[in-house]
Amino acid sequence: MLKEILTGWKNYISKSEVPDSIAKQRAAICAACPEAKYGKLLAFIKDSLKEIQGHYCGQCGCPLSAKIRSNDICSKHKWL
Ligand code: SF4
Repeated sequence: MLKEILTGWKNYISKSEVPDSIAKQRAAICAACPEAKYGKLLAFIKDSLKEIQGHYCGQCGCPLSAKIRSNDICSKHKWL
């Protein structure tokens, strides 16, 4: 999981290996998920996908800006 999240951050910073359309779909699902939590420490990280900006997943603790752009999976199987 750590490797996937690090790749997600790399994808966040540079050109994503996950297509924008997929990241967008995942962000919409996460934004509607009760496990998406707002983290004050993540608030400074800007994201073009405003619906998940500053949020992390309550299931795995991963910042969503990185998670949705990685090859990780949703632990609740809401997206692949
Ligand atoms: S990764 Fe899955 S469990 Fe976590 S916030 Fe997104 S949809 Fe919810």
